[in-house]
Amino acid sequence: MIDPEAELARLREQHLYRRRRILESPQCVRPIIDGRPMLSFCSNDYLGLANHPDVVAALREGAGLYGAGSGAAHLVTGHSEAHHRLEEQLAEFTGRPRALLFSTGYMANLGVISTLAGRGDTILADRLNHASLTDGARLGGARLRRYPHLDMTCLTALCAETGAKLIVSDGVFSMDGDLAPLPELAQAARSGGAWLMIDDAHGLGVIGPRGRGILEHFGVDEEDVPILVGTLGKAFGTFGAFVAGSEALIELLIQHAHSYIYTTALPPAVAHATSTALDLAVREPWRRDQLARLVRRFRRGARQRGLALGDSDTPIQPLIAGEAWRALDWSLALEDAGILVTAIRPPTVPQGSARLRITFSAEHGEDDVDRLLEALAELPRPDLQSGADASKETP
Ligand code: PMP
Repeated sequence: MIDPEAELARLREQHLYRRRRILESPQCVRPIIDGRPMLSFCSNDYLGLANHPDVVAALREGAGLYGAGSGAAHLVTGHSEAHHRLEEQLAEFTGRPRALLFSTGYMANLGVISTLAGRGDTILADRLNHASLTDGARLGGARLRRYPHLDMTCLTALCAETGAKLIVSDGVFSMDGDLAPLPELAQAARSGGAWLMIDDAHGLGVIGPRGRGILEHFGVDEEDVPILVGTLGKAFGTFGAFVAGSEALIELLIQHAHSYIYTTALPPAVAHATSTALDLAVREPWRRDQLARLVRRFRRGARQRGLALGDSDTPIQPLIAGEAWRALDWSLALEDAGILVTAIRPPTVPQGSARLRITFSAEHGEDDVDRLLEALAELPRPDLQSGADASKETP
C-alpha cells in the first residue's frame, strides 16, 4: 500500500511532481492560464477546431436536439442518432466498413486490446507506445513484450520467437512526433501471422495528403492494418475516440469490450459537434498546409540556432532536456517570457529523456514560431547549442 505523504515527497524531490494549471479561456493558441495571457505551444488542437465557431455552434445545436447527457450506455438507451451518424462518417473518413465510438482513446485502447488478447496470448508493442496500449495488454492478462523504439529487426525476431498474434503501435508517437514504419510493421505482422493495430491519435486529420493519417501517408490499407484507433479530442477538437475496422471486429467489440459496454455513452451533442469538426477537417486542407509550413519554419529556425530537435516532421516537436529538473527549468523560463510549453517527464517518457513537447496548431502564425524560436535560443543551457540530435540519447 502506497504511503501518500512519502510518495508525494519523493515526487517533489525528484522534480516529478505535477500540478494543474487553470485554463480560464477556451482552448486556443492564446489562452488565459492562471490569470495570464500566454502564447501556448502545448495543446493537441492541431487543426484549431476546439474553439471553431461552427463546431461550438454545432455543440449548442446538439444540446438543443439531444440535451446535455446521453443518460445511458450505448447498449441500453444511450446510442443516439448523433452517435450513429458520426460512426458512419468516421467509417467513410477512414475507408473502413465500420467505426465504433468510445468515450475516450484510453478506453478504446483498453477495450480493443483486452477483448482481442487474453491469458496465454502475447502482444508485441513498441517501447514508446502510449500508456493506454500498455494498460490494455495488462487488463486483458496477455503477456506484453516490448521491442526497442522502431526496431523492426527485433520485432521480426520476437514474432518468430513468441508466435504473437497482435502487434500494437502508436502511428505518430505522442511524445516524439516520429512515425511508426508502417510498411515494415505490416510486413512483420504478415510474416508472423499477427494482427496489426495502429493508434493514430496524432496522425488522423493531420498527416497524409487528405489528412487520413499515417495509413494514407504510407499508402497502407486495411488488409495490412485491420485495427485502427483514432481520437476525437486532438485534431478534431472535441472529445471521444473510435475504432475502425471490419464488420466482425466492430460487432465483437460491441459484444465484448467492457470499456464500451459498461460506461455511459458520450454526450450526443459532442458527437453532433464532432460531425461538424470532421467536415471542417475534410473541407479545409489549408489547416494541414499551414501546420506543415509552421513545422518547416520551426525546424529551419531551430537548425539555424543550433537547437537539438528530434526526428519529426509532424506538429509534435520535442526538445530533449534529459533530466527532469532541466525540462522544468526550461518550461519555467519560457513561462516567464509568456510562452507555455509544458515539461514532459518520466514516467510519461523514459528516464533521462525529459523534454519540452512543443506542438503547433493551424491557428499559430509565423510570428508565433519566430517568437518561440527566440525564446528557446535564450534558454540557459549551453549544451542546448550542441546541434546534436539529442533524441538519439533516449534510452
Ligand atoms: N493514444 C495516444 C497515442 C494518445 O496520445 C492519447 C492521448 N494522449 C490517447 C490514446 C488517449 O486518448 P484520449 O485522450 O481520448 O483518452
